Amino acid sequence: MEQVDAIIIGAGQGGVPLATELAGQGKRVVVFERDRPGGSCVNRGCTPSKAFLAAAHTAGRARQGKPLGIHCEVRADLGAVMTRVRAIRDQLAEGVACKLNEAGVRVVAAEASFTAGGAIHGGQQTFGAPLIVIDTGSRPKIPPIRGLADTPYLTDDNIWDLRTLPDRVAAIGAGYIGLELGQGLARLGSEVHIFERGDRVLSAESAEVSAVLSEALARDGIRIHHNAPVEDVAYDNAVFTLDSGDKRWEVDALLVATGRTPNTDALKAHAAGITIDESGHIEISAQFETARPGVYAIGEAAGQPAFTHVAWEDYRRLRTILEGGGRRRDDRVLGYAVFTEPQVGRAGLSLVQAQALGYTTVSAKMNVKEMARAIEWGHADGFFRIVAERDSGRLLGAELVGYEAAELAQLFIDLIEKGTTLEELGQWQHVHPTYAENVPAIARMAEQQRLARHQEDG
Ligand SMILES: Cc1cc2nc3c(=O)[nH]c(=O)nc-3n(C[C@H](O)[C@H](O)[C@H](O)COP(=O)(O)OP(=O)(O)OC[C@H]3O[C@@H](n4cnc5c(N)ncnc54)[C@H](O)[C@@H]3O)c2cc1C
Repeated sequence: MEQVDAIIIGAGQGGVPLATELAGQGKRVVVFERDRPGGSCVNRGCTPSKAFLAAAHTAGRARQGKPLGIHCEVRADLGAVMTRVRAIRDQLAEGVACKLNEAGVRVVAAEASFTAGGAIHGGQQTFGAPLIVIDTGSRPKIPPIRGLADTPYLTDDNIWDLRTLPDRVAAIGAGYIGLELGQGLARLGSEVHIFERGDRVLSAESAEVSAVLSEALARDGIRIHHNAPVEDVAYDNAVFTLDSGDKRWEVDALLVATGRTPNTDALKAHAAGITIDESGHIEISAQFETARPGVYAIGEAAGQPAFTHVAWEDYRRLRTILEGGGRRRDDRVLGYAVFTEPQVGRAGLSLVQAQALGYTTVSAKMNVKEMARAIEWGHADGFFRIVAERDSGRLLGAELVGYEAAELAQLFIDLIEKGTTLEELGQWQHVHPTYAENVPAIARMAEQQRLARHQEDG
């Protein structure tokens, strides 16, 4: 066994920057990676999905140009779309590999697992280190649907290998992956059905967000089947047959988008005294440390919110902790986006979440169709809602649905982090005509309500 200074398992969003930084400090660092460097974000998640949506939304916008006086016939070449997607993915993965190489990190291209003594073994090599960081991410969770395992279903692992556009597609799951990829395929020309066992899409968001999304997706021709768990799947003669309730559907491609499961089984972490919870996530302290001293876990494998920026930020927090600083895993203002059209942008707490947590809240909402930018550009879908604490006026969250709403979510994350109040936000000026210019106006609406309630309370 060779002794080094640090071992990172997984060349993903948290592991790579940590490895290069430690190597830059002159430490001997080994990274184990069983797939391609870059993790799920680069190889099957953010990068390919957004490159794919760039094409799909271009097609969707072109189709929706008639009210603006633009008439065009859209013909999508899925082969070309996916060739571009794969080229971008490969370029970024190659960039990650170069970064590790240039930093002097030793990459072992193998699946890693713990030995009972706490060393790491993989690819017939064994290393020991005083610092071990697990960043093994997650993979698609495949539900136990009868017959599914015997069919050539798609997931976000292999959809990028499609060469031709399927005429009819079914997606199981109306979370963000099912919606982004489902809408993408519909906008490129497939007939898309989304099967959701619950009663609305994007169930992590408020019912109003789900309603706006459902309407927009229906305009793209997508059929959403609510309360429709798929119970049986069969595949014969290049056709999938799905049974849901008392109905049977036939499609040419089936996308399984029913969530993700952590990549922790292959680690044999129990052997080294590391505990794993019922959902398969590695149990960590507030400072990312596992039950075994000196072994840390970050990102999705540790049950952190499943976003690239979270895994990346976990690395920065862990670095500070390792340097003796007082960071924690769980005190971030969480923000994220869904890249459908309209987009969903979230920062901090939704109104429902804030109330469930016991905050006395004040909130104000403006519909996108009232905004000058939206009227001029012909966008009508969505709304912006700001949520604040009633006593202090401090911002707690923002729910944004609309064109490029992801960009605006970022503004709110920063404002919430800084403890900004409605009164402060209401005084700022934003560029006209942008969606952002409505934000101070919404803040003023909420602030007026807040002051009125204070007066009522005497
Ligand atoms: C379709 C899709 C779209 C997404 N879109 C977005 C988005 O728009 N924005 C966003 O923020 N997030 C998005 N995500 C989520 C994002 O990709 C993940 O949250 C992020 O990559 C998690 O980073 P991580 O560091 O936890 O793990 P990863 O980056 O996945 O890295 C884990 C690495 O560990 C390796 N590994 C696993 N087990 C072992 C082992 N035993 N030995 C060696 N190597 C191992 C894996 O091969 C992988 O390379 C998307 C995900 C998907 C699937």
